[in-house]
Amino acid sequence: MHDDSPHPPPSSAPASRRRRRRLVAALAVVAAVPAGWFALDALAGPGAPPKPSARPAPAGEGPGASNGTAGDRKPGHGGGPLAGKVVVIDPGHNPGNFQHAREINEPVDIGTNRKECDTTGTATNTGYTEAEFTLDVSHRLRTLLRDQGATVEFTHDADRPYGPCIDERARIGNTAEADAVVSVHADGSAVGNRGFHVILPAPVRAGAADTSPIVGPSRALGEHIAGTFARATGSAPANYAGGGTGSVVRADLGGLNLSTVPKVFIECGNMRDPKDASLLTDAAWRQKAARGIADGISTYLLG
Ligand SMILES: [Zn+2]
Repeated sequence: MHDDSPHPPPSSAPASRRRRRRLVAALAVVAAVPAGWFALDALAGPGAPPKPSARPAPAGEGPGASNGTAGDRKPGHGGGPLAGKVVVIDPGHNPGNFQHAREINEPVDIGTNRKECDTTGTATNTGYTEAEFTLDVSHRLRTLLRDQGATVEFTHDADRPYGPCIDERARIGNTAEADAVVSVHADGSAVGNRGFHVILPAPVRAGAADTSPIVGPSRALGEHIAGTFARATGSAPANYAGGGTGSVVRADLGGLNLSTVPKVFIECGNMRDPKDASLLTDAAWRQKAARGIADGISTYLLG
């Protein structure tokens, strides 16, 4: 969930930059763009191809080392089409956040402004939390990607008391030099609001944030995922965001603003709607969701 719900807003993170300019067409949808603190320079782009990558990605390399998840950074099985590709999965929120209100409310710098370190996320009426959901889908997604040979790293695996903060979540993807990062969420919107949407980074240049190199490739990543997620799950694009396109562009998420590598969020469904909740709480559906995300990542990476 991401600032669109009765719950406290979710998260994001800081940045550095790489020079990869992509000219582009205008963004179709710009949502939730609080005016003032960023430069919307109308550069976003369709389909920039992912960077070629043939990193050996040894175990223990990268951000995992700093957050206790280094063991997750294992190369995928042997060859496989995604051999040499690095994917960072960011399970939204953390089940422990509920017990650490003070820490997760501590503001961090997201370039454009300061924002809460992290949020609790939402939950279904029956008490299935978004944090449980995101971890479950992330585990399934990791297995599918490793089966294709990818090197997969998590930002956390509920192996820390809370967080990480949104700035650290972004930093982990950056340090890993990930070919793609996906932050997994489910929304907390009104009853009757249904379906999924991906969230793409807006052009933002402020403080430590400069998304200009990643706007184009992130859009390509997100569009792949939106298509394959719909096919795998049978879910429709959100009927309450993105105008039916299944994608929304946002400038207020630190996890996107501070990313220097292609990154999107996906809101898999609305936990507060009973019909969507019946899907989100079903393990077989979550496997389909993971398959949909994995297929989008792999088709993006294989260009
Ligand atoms: Zn969330």
